Amino acid sequence: MSRARKPDWLKMAPPSGERFTDIKETLREHDLHTVCEEANCPNLGECWSGREGPGTATFMLMGERCSRGCNFCDVETGGMDPLDPEEPQQVADAVAEIGLDYVVLTSVDRDDLPDQGAGHFAETIRAIKERHPGILVECLIPDFQGEERLVRQIVDAEPDVIAHNIETVDRLQWPVRDRRAGYEQSLSVLRQVDRESDIYTKTSLMLGVGEYDHEIYQTLRDLKTVGVDVVTLGQYLQPSRSHLEVSEYVHPDAFDTWRRVAEEELDFLYCASGPMVRSSYRAGELFVEAVLD
Ligand code: SF4
Ligand code: SF4
Repeated sequence: MSRARKPDWLKMAPPSGERFTDIKETLREHDLHTVCEEANCPNLGECWSGREGPGTATFMLMGERCSRGCNFCDVETGGMDPLDPEEPQQVADAVAEIGLDYVVLTSVDRDDLPDQGAGHFAETIRAIKERHPGILVECLIPDFQGEERLVRQIVDAEPDVIAHNIETVDRLQWPVRDRRAGYEQSLSVLRQVDRESDIYTKTSLMLGVGEYDHEIYQTLRDLKTVGVDVVTLGQYLQPSRSHLEVSEYVHPDAFDTWRRVAEEELDFLYCASGPMVRSSYRAGELFVEAVLD
């Protein structure tokens, strides 16, 4: 496959400003990591400041190394860090200090731990809610190998949104994701959350990894069938030459068409769709707009 040149619509200015610097300082004081910084996310300026509503930041829990190795992801695999028992409280303190109204928690996969990290994740949700009542918490969770008792631990901690990313269409799961992940397994996690709670469910798809339109459509239908409320679509970008190649840079107009299909035809609560959209893109603002306004 030929290496396509990055189109102009993917070029963004680096973030700056007082709020940006303040947040960075608070994170360093608490020795915390955000996906926003680690992944060099192009939306950082927009998300952290909040254009018209609450700002959003995504905290990465349970270390910087993952027990899995997905072909699209830049996180290092193996050599797992021990869990930091102080982390739940450190995150809660940082969220309160920064003054976020909406926080996204995510984690590496911890297949190495007996509960795959579900308990630590749930403890962090509770610590934030105790320290900052009224805050909205979104959790982007691993698949917990489809173990229902582990997904239930997250549900029982009562976050406002539970997200789990299906990442791509059924046919491309294994060139794209680690072999321990899978389409049906991810659907079953989302189905369980919908069945067992009133918590909003959310998922994300990367476009540009070789999928066909009819497969995107089928995936959206499958997601709707298991009760997903919110879907986000964004362009896959290759983190390095050793990662999966981009198969196509999808035009912004096509993203807009998918947004309309998802919202108007398939009746998702909302769909954020655009080349730079990531699972947590302006999550606070969009959630408040769609659900609370
Ligand atoms: Fe990256 Fe998540 Fe895959 Fe781990 S499971 S390699 S963090 S995408
Ligand atoms: Fe952070 Fe997510 Fe926004 Fe990127 S899209 S800056 S990771 S909150």
